[in-house]
Amino acid sequence: MTTTPETTAAGFDTLGLAQPLLKALADVGYETPSPIQAACIPVLLAGHDLLGEAQTGTGKTAAFALPLLQKIDLKRAVPQALILTPTRELAIQVAEALQKYAHHMPGFHVLPIYGGQSMVVQLRALSRGTHVIVGTPGRVMDHLERKSLALNNLQTLVLDEADEMLRMGFIDDVKWILEHTPAERQTALFSATMPDVIRRVAHEHLRQPKEIKIRSATSTVVTTSQSYCQTHTGQKLEALTRILEVEDDFDAAIVFVRTKTATVELADKLEARGYSVAALNGDLTQGLREQVIERLKAGTIDIVVATDVAARGLDVARISHVINYDVPYDTEAYVHRIGRTGRAGRTGRAILFLAPREMYMLKLIERATKQKITALTMPTPGEVANRRVAQFTQQVVDIIKGEKLDFFFDVVRRMEGEQDIAAREIAAALAWLATRERPLQMPGANNDHAPRDAAPAANAVAPAPTFERKPDFKARSKPDEGAAAEPRRERPVKEGRGDTPVAQRTFAPGQLARYRIEIGRNQGVLPKEIVGAIANEAGIAGKDIGQINLFDDYSSVELPAGLPADLMDILRRIRVRQFALKTRVMEPGEFVDTRPPRKAPPPRDSRKPDWKKPAGARPEWKAKRER
Ligand code: AMP
Repeated sequence: MTTTPETTAAGFDTLGLAQPLLKALADVGYETPSPIQAACIPVLLAGHDLLGEAQTGTGKTAAFALPLLQKIDLKRAVPQALILTPTRELAIQVAEALQKYAHHMPGFHVLPIYGGQSMVVQLRALSRGTHVIVGTPGRVMDHLERKSLALNNLQTLVLDEADEMLRMGFIDDVKWILEHTPAERQTALFSATMPDVIRRVAHEHLRQPKEIKIRSATSTVVTTSQSYCQTHTGQKLEALTRILEVEDDFDAAIVFVRTKTATVELADKLEARGYSVAALNGDLTQGLREQVIERLKAGTIDIVVATDVAARGLDVARISHVINYDVPYDTEAYVHRIGRTGRAGRTGRAILFLAPREMYMLKLIERATKQKITALTMPTPGEVANRRVAQFTQQVVDIIKGEKLDFFFDVVRRMEGEQDIAAREIAAALAWLATRERPLQMPGANNDHAPRDAAPAANAVAPAPTFERKPDFKARSKPDEGAAAEPRRERPVKEGRGDTPVAQRTFAPGQLARYRIEIGRNQGVLPKEIVGAIANEAGIAGKDIGQINLFDDYSSVELPAGLPADLMDILRRIRVRQFALKTRVMEPGEFVDTRPPRKAPPPRDSRKPDWKKPAGARPEWKAKRER
């Protein structure tokens, strides 16, 4: 009996898989084999029969699919492998997985056949020829009896979720099928549990099988407080953002996902919702990885979205939360993950997202961590709104306590007198103004705090709000610290980033002014990213954006002079490569071009404004340079 190894840091390329399969794995973003894959793939490639004890979620599909695909002769469109599954859903899912892994195997065909689907459709598909069949036992038997399916060329037979097939009463059908396939086939049987009946089937139909079992973690007592949230995949992002909003003592989080691709995708989505976030995966060089960790330590980012391998050994005291966005392969991985919080004597929080079919992990983890995992429901819009109102109230109280407000008392008094409006109304209008970028209400929230009616406020938040999470996060930001040129996707100039496109602003042709933004060459920024961000998020057309000069830790951008306050507000908060631009007008004489003068006059920038500037309206800095 083999149990799975503790770590599987070595990549798929050490397992003996062929190039087309390795390429497909890289495409789907798998970084390292899961424990069951590392143990099963070499055994199956070597031609042994296999008895695997593994649940859904452990990566068992790829564990049997990859070796099976490697043996397929694409030139012969006859069934060379048969996978039996208990349900049609699983049959479809497995067929899809095979299709994905066979992406670089031209002409490959897999056919799911299951009860409930039209026989005519299946007969037609079978007659066209296929390399692999994935089916439920009853329907496979039907086709074998009708002779519409011939298994005389079968090399591999996989029984997936054998205990489920037993539970659903398919075991006799399975035995019948086993008896009607070539004796020299290779057989792999996977089951979450190993009841006697399954062991007997294995004993009768498998030849000296290698037994592989997922090692369960030696139980560890953990101090981290653990919760889980049952949610469907499509709701996870919304659940995550709402939970982060209402969690007490949130400082920083590490969010675990399974694939490299998912680290980047989720980081992008969180960034679009206003979080300071970076992806951490195996594609990052050691230098970039360290930069991400330094930025997390320094507080310039608050969330890291990581794969297990990339986060190995990560030790950052301020990580208050570990989010298991994708469920780990086993309890061992879970214990490793949650060990990233609760450092330096603090108590950490671990939150686990589970799809209904992954709920079995709960008991296993509770046993491994010797602790109860409490249920967490996705906070309602009302709860999120309450939390925002509480935070806003605290800010107001702090300002009243800590700031000198005499001048503003006068302003309010004047408004009361001149406009004949009550202080309460002025305060409400100011609250609206102050929370415009991070509205206090969410659609669907009970309007507990609305003073007059229950209609949604004009500034009610869209489901995916864009805002700075906490005021103190901003204070901690040091944009020129440990800046990293991350391998993130470039922002396309034309595409909006948020969920709704930003309305384009129009400017009367006129003077350009030079603005300073707090991101520069050291942060790896490219002029087109700056143009893209400003165009997409502030709605300033490319033609209204003039020359851009990059310096080490900042840059200058020409934009229409005298931009209105609301636009300046947006420009200050726009993030490029996770740095807030903090845009401000440059003082006269502040711009000093330290670069050696160019020999030829620079080509006219296509982004230059196409209006004619009035003579004599040149900014001072430009006049100086031209003298
Ligand atoms: P399974 O246990 O086969 O149902 O797989 C569960 C999930 O894990 C599927 O979404 C797979 O795409 C994913 N998965 C399987 N193997 C890996 C791997 N080595 N790296 C990342 N994700 C994986």
